[in-house]
Amino acid sequence: MLKKISQIFSRPAQPGMVGDGFRVFNYYPSGYAIRNYVNPFLMLDFGASHYFSPSEKVRGVDVHPHRGFETVTIALKGAVAHHDSAGNSGIIYPGDVQWMTAGSGILHKEYHEENFSRQGGDFEMIQLWVNLPKTHKMTTPKYQEICNKNIPKFISEKNDVKVEIIAGNFNETPGIANTFTPINLFLIDLMADSSLKFNVPSNHNSSMLVISGDLNVNDNKASMHNFVLFENNGEEINLFAEKQSKVLFLSGEPINEPIAQYGPFVMNTQQEILQAFDDYNNGKFGVLN
Ligand code: MN
Repeated sequence: MLKKISQIFSRPAQPGMVGDGFRVFNYYPSGYAIRNYVNPFLMLDFGASHYFSPSEKVRGVDVHPHRGFETVTIALKGAVAHHDSAGNSGIIYPGDVQWMTAGSGILHKEYHEENFSRQGGDFEMIQLWVNLPKTHKMTTPKYQEICNKNIPKFISEKNDVKVEIIAGNFNETPGIANTFTPINLFLIDLMADSSLKFNVPSNHNSSMLVISGDLNVNDNKASMHNFVLFENNGEEINLFAEKQSKVLFLSGEPINEPIAQYGPFVMNTQQEILQAFDDYNNGKFGVLN
C-alpha cells in the first residue's frame, strides 16, 4: 500500500548561523514542532547551498559538548573538518558522511576545511541528530567516517537513478552505517523523468527532504527545499522526478521514551541533564583544544 503523506512543509523562512560557518535552515525542532513524528530523528539542519567568500580565518563552530545521541553530517558541497576529544578527526567531501556517536560524552569542533576556507566557494551540508535509546545513551563515544566510495549504491537499469544507502536497507541491500535502532537513510539522485519505487516498514516514522529539483511523491508535488512527512501506514514510496532532483529519505523505528533536552545534551530525565552539566564542568568529557 502506498504510504500516505501527512504534510509537506516549506523551507523555514530564515536561516540561522551555527557558529560562523554553518548557515542552516532548522526544519525541526525549531522550524516545525514535529519531533513526535520524526523521532528517532531529533534535529534536522539543512545548510542549503551558500557561497562563502575566501577567508584566512577558518569558519565553523568551536569546541562544544554532546551527550546522549548521535550527530550525522552529510557533506554535499565544499568540505567539512572535524576534531573530537576521543582523538578522532577527519575531513568529509561531497557525498561523504560522518556518523558520530556522542554517547556518554564528547567534545568536538566542526568547521570548514582549511583549503576550502582559503579559496571560498559553495558550501552545502546536512546535519541530523539521531536519538539513542535509554540503554545506549551512555555508550562509549564512536566515530564512523564514511567515504562515498564505500557507500553501497543502487543504480537503476536505465542508469537514471542512484540511491546511496547510508544506513538501513534499500530493497534488501544493506547500508554501511552501524545504527543503534533501525534507521534508513538514503541519498537519492534522479535524472529528469526518472522514477523509483521502494518500500520501508509501515511503523517507521518517515520523511524526505528535497535538496534540489521537483518531484511527484506518492501522488503529491514536492519542490526544492520542501520537507515531506509521511503517515505511519503503508510501505510504498513512489518517486517521479519532474526535473533532475536530489533528495534525502529518512525513516526510523520510533524510540518511545521520554526526552529531556538542554542544548547539546539529550537524555531521558532532568536529573540526567544536571548530571551531564556536572560531568561536563568536571572535565569528564575529555579535553580538546
Ligand atoms: Mn556538534
